[in-house]
Order: sequence, then structure tokens, then C-alpha cells
Amino acid sequence: MACNCRDEVTESLLSAWKLKTPFASGHLITLDGYIPLGKNPKLSTLEKAQMMIYKYCVFSDKSGNIISRHKKNHLIFTYCPFCGVKYDPDESK
Ligand SMILES: [Zn+2]
Repeated sequence: MACNCRDEVTESLLSAWKLKTPFASGHLITLDGYIPLGKNPKLSTLEKAQMMIYKYCVFSDKSGNIISRHKKNHLIFTYCPFCGVKYDPDESK
């Protein structure tokens, strides 16, 4: 990871939430929207911010049957959405 924005933003949100709810305990914040990358994502330390894309359409097949199609994809960010630093400067496209 080129920056620590995920950890810093998570900690900032956690601190703010604790201040708003001082009567509570066990505060936890999870910043979703990141995806591990690499050949083995479970072992990857490289994460990039991502946004889910939900696709839907309806069409007719040759017999006139109406078919609906759902698809999900990830829109993976090249730059950190918080600080604008490129995740992998060596990455060439
Ligand atoms: Zn950042």
C-alpha cells in the first residue's frame, strides 16, 4: 500500500464515533470497499479501493423468451480516493 489512508480514516472515524457515544463500549469501525490483489489474494498485502458495479438487463432469446441478466464487477481504483497517491507507481498499463 502506498499510503496509510485506510488505517488513518478508520481510526479517525472510530475516534469520532467514540466521542459521540461515550456511554457505549466495544466500538468498532470497518471501512469497506477494499479488495486484495495479486496472484493469491489471501496472501496479498496489496489492497486497492474498489467500488461495486451492479449490472442488469433484460433481453429476448431466439424463441422470444424474456431473460434477465445480473452481473457484478469491481471498479478498482488506481489512486487512493483519500490522498490521491497512486497505489502502485511501477504498475504499467
Ligand atoms: Zn491515501
